[in-house]
Amino acid sequence: MMGHSHALSGALVWLAAAPGLAALVPVAEHATVPAELLAGALVCAGAAMLPDLDHPKSTIAQTFGPVTWVLSRAVNGIAGGHRQATHSLLFCAAAGVGTHLLAQWHTVARDVVVVLMIGLALRALAVGVPGRTLTSAMLNVLLTTALVVIFHSFGVGYGWLGLAVAIGSLAHVVGDCLTERGCPVLWPIKARWLLPYKIGFKTGKWFEQRFLAPALSVGIVVLLYLRLMPDVTIG
Ligand SMILES: [Zn+2]
Repeated sequence: MMGHSHALSGALVWLAAAPGLAALVPVAEHATVPAELLAGALVCAGAAMLPDLDHPKSTIAQTFGPVTWVLSRAVNGIAGGHRQATHSLLFCAAAGVGTHLLAQWHTVARDVVVVLMIGLALRALAVGVPGRTLTSAMLNVLLTTALVVIFHSFGVGYGWLGLAVAIGSLAHVVGDCLTERGCPVLWPIKARWLLPYKIGFKTGKWFEQRFLAPALSVGIVVLLYLRLMPDVTIG
């Protein structure tokens, strides 16, 4: 799947799961409070790009210039190529636990992860001016900073940061399993998980661009409405 669809799927999954997480997982007990909900959806959207760090041409690899490009080449080498180790349950768990420990260790480390995830989400959701790379980058930095400051002023705690990173990465793996190439979900077991009868869709083709991405966007708008409108009790 393309970076854009992955980010949308990450946001959608978080918005859908937030009430359940708030009820069941102590670190996410405030996940449905509006500011926390929006922060969680954005972080999860950004995290849904992480597995594609194994591809130097992916959106995530091109987000923070040479830094992410060099990092993606390194990850590509370590992971054994595109759609290998980083597209597995093991990676999702390791990314989540690693992020949680990092966030517990120091608030600055936690805030760096938050900024990176939100910046990634905005980039993938194509916040910017078409054809103007520098203007778009500046706009991204400005918006990311503004959002992080607003979330801070609303007392967003990010206790769920590791959880959002794990869930976002998992949304990515599930999304790629719906494509024709599938993923090695149980890596290091190499068998690929994909849909039967070759019904998986081709990345970036009409199904994804004309149907999936718009459907995910509509889903996000509906869930935001349901979650943020106090009078609506469905969901
Ligand atoms: Zn992928």
